[in-house]
Amino acid sequence: MSPGRPVGSGLCAAPSPRAVQRTLLRSFGPQGWWPVTPAGEASPRYRPGIWGRLAQRQRLEVCLGALLTQNTAWTNASSALQALHRRGAVRLDRLVRMPAERLQRLIRPSGYFKQKALRVKAFSRHAAARGADLRRWLSGPLPKLREELLGIHGIGPETADSILLYAGLRPAFVVDAYTLRIGARLGWFRGRPSYQEAAAFLTGRLPASAELYGEFHALLVELAKRHCRKTPACEGCPLRKGCGHGKNC
Ligand code: SF4
Repeated sequence: MSPGRPVGSGLCAAPSPRAVQRTLLRSFGPQGWWPVTPAGEASPRYRPGIWGRLAQRQRLEVCLGALLTQNTAWTNASSALQALHRRGAVRLDRLVRMPAERLQRLIRPSGYFKQKALRVKAFSRHAAARGADLRRWLSGPLPKLREELLGIHGIGPETADSILLYAGLRPAFVVDAYTLRIGARLGWFRGRPSYQEAAAFLTGRLPASAELYGEFHALLVELAKRHCRKTPACEGCPLRKGCGHGKNC
């Protein structure tokens, strides 16, 4: 990785992550991640403007969503979460006690349901053993907590950071394939950085704010969906002016 060097046309200086975050926020507005189910409602939804107001059940829902959305579209994970809600199963004690076959049936819409049931069980048992208070558990020392999450069956860096950021409200940057694609096109990365290199590049250039990281990750996902696809649709992209790959700087 070579941070901040121009790529593409060779004429553009890579825009700073902070400038990109501001431009995207201005263009797309707050995204309201992570979608959770408000009290009295039946399905998760995005809630712009109320960052950080999470009940224990909603924190657990974020953790479950991070596990269930692995290798599948969010809509499938959302269907599985709705099934869990209908059975009153978004509770650590119930998930720990629930027979594996029943859990598999409920989360079937998320795909890989046998594998994911094992992961949900492993996470629930671990969180219950740590006192079952997610707010408290996830407020521990960050590097140690991240290592602890990575030690739970089925949790890799992206899932661990999603849990830390969106359930724990901790400043952990979530790096996904979209971040790497956009970062490479903007000139933040040369070659293919590791997860940790990409995260360190971004966190080293942004204020350590969970809210900012949470919004920025969501905005990058939105950019990848609207414009920075596998084949980029640069026309109308809010970053085109400073993007070497967009060849318009
Ligand atoms: S869509 Fe085009 S202009 Fe926008 S960030 Fe991607 S490559 Fe750059």
